[in-house]
Amino acid sequence: MAIEILQLLVQSADTWLFEGNLSGLSDREWMALRFLAGANRFSRTPTALASFLGATRSAASQIAAALQNKGLVVRKPSAEDKRSIVLCITGEGEKFLERDPINLLRDQVEALEAGERSRLHDTLGRVLTGLDVAKRRHRADVCSRCMFLVESGEGKDRHFKCRLFRKSLTPKDTTLLCAYFEGRS
Ligand code: SF4
Repeated sequence: MAIEILQLLVQSADTWLFEGNLSGLSDREWMALRFLAGANRFSRTPTALASFLGATRSAASQIAAALQNKGLVVRKPSAEDKRSIVLCITGEGEKFLERDPINLLRDQVEALEAGERSRLHDTLGRVLTGLDVAKRRHRADVCSRCMFLVESGEGKDRHFKCRLFRKSLTPKDTTLLCAYFEGRS
C-alpha cells in the first residue's frame, strides 16, 4: 500500500516538476515565485529562498534575477536589517500566479470535502515531519505549528510573538510560510 501511495504522489508531481518552461517559467522559477508570494517578511531573502529550493545561494539569486527581469519580483531594502535586501512579488507577479501550473492540483484538492482535506493536510504534515527528522533538514511551514511562536491574550487582545526573531507578528503573519520554522516536538 505504501508503494501505491508513493506512485500516486509521484504521478501528481508533473504539475510542479517538468522539463522546459510553462507560461515562460521553469519549474524552479514557478517554485520560487510561489514561495515569495506566500513567505513571511523574514523569509523573502535570497538565503531563505535558496534553503526552500534546496539550491545554492548563487543559483537562487539567478532564479530571483530571472523573475526580476520579467517584472514579477523586485528587490527592496529590508525593513528588518538595512544591510539586507528582500525579494518582493510585484502586482504583475501576483497576477501571473493565476497561470501557475500547480493550480490544476490545487483545484483537485479544493474539490475534496472539508474533512478529507483536513485529514490529507494532517497526514502529509506528519509524513513531512518524519522526513525532516530522518533527513535532518528544515522545511518551510507556518507559525501556528512552530516552537518559536508565543501567543498571549484572547479575542481582540490576542498577541503573537516570534521568540527566534524577537518580533511581534500580526495574525496574518502567522499564516505565512517561514523558512526558519521549527516544528514542536
Ligand atoms: S514563529 Fe517560527 S515560523 Fe513564525 S516567524 Fe518565528 S521562526 Fe518563523
